[in-house]
Amino acid sequence: MLNVVESPWTIAALAGWLGLCFGSFSNVLIHRLPRNESVVRPRSHCPGCGKTVSWYDNIPVLSWILLRGRCRGCGTPISVRYLLVEVAGSGCFLAGWWFGGFSAAGLSAAIFLLLLLDIAIIDWQHMIIPHTLTLAGMIIGLLLGHFAGLGLDGAILGLLVGSGSILVVSYGYKFFRGVVGMGGGDVMLMGMVGAFLGIWGVLGTLFGGALLGSVYAVTAGRGTVDGSAKLPFGTFLSLAAAIVLLFGGTIFRWYLTLV
Ligand SMILES: [Zn+2]
Repeated sequence: MLNVVESPWTIAALAGWLGLCFGSFSNVLIHRLPRNESVVRPRSHCPGCGKTVSWYDNIPVLSWILLRGRCRGCGTPISVRYLLVEVAGSGCFLAGWWFGGFSAAGLSAAIFLLLLLDIAIIDWQHMIIPHTLTLAGMIIGLLLGHFAGLGLDGAILGLLVGSGSILVVSYGYKFFRGVVGMGGGDVMLMGMVGAFLGIWGVLGTLFGGALLGSVYAVTAGRGTVDGSAKLPFGTFLSLAAAIVLLFGGTIFRWYLTLV
């Protein structure tokens, strides 16, 4: 008989719960990093009355539901985004567990997906990608790359190719069009993606991100004739990177059956 502690359901529940807590912290990062505020101090407070949020009102998902999305003190509505990010954080950890199990590869995938989630939302809302997240991601990617099967050399190569490809595209764009196409945030983001996914994964992400961004630009009517409309490219790159991590192998095998 399988021990309760070793049961896959126990580990899944643990991964899901950890994901909720990290999702809760993601809310802090998403709110504060673009505003250049400290992510440790002060503790979470209500934007309406300024009261510090008690621990029992800060339990992921549960508190939001019990308080029906309002501050206990003054009744200021708390955006449903907080709830959704917590659930999405849980999804990241469950996906990481599904991908790599209870291992360094699973942990690496979970952290990678969580970073991508934070970056995607911040870039979508503010058109910036905080270096704090991408730099931390690069370091974690390099550290875990050895255990996640990529190897340190594979992670370093991916990082260089990821950053380098954006630099080339960006300079090429500047050379031909006279405008800066992509920012330093994208360079750092793709360095981080390369550290986690390696050279083939990062190139697949670049292709997928460009594809998703183009589809969005066309369908949302954001594409202008001279191509000057600003797109949160980091959001599309993040989405593409998550797809490449989780389904890249499947997509590649499907592609091979076509050719
Ligand atoms: Zn309040």
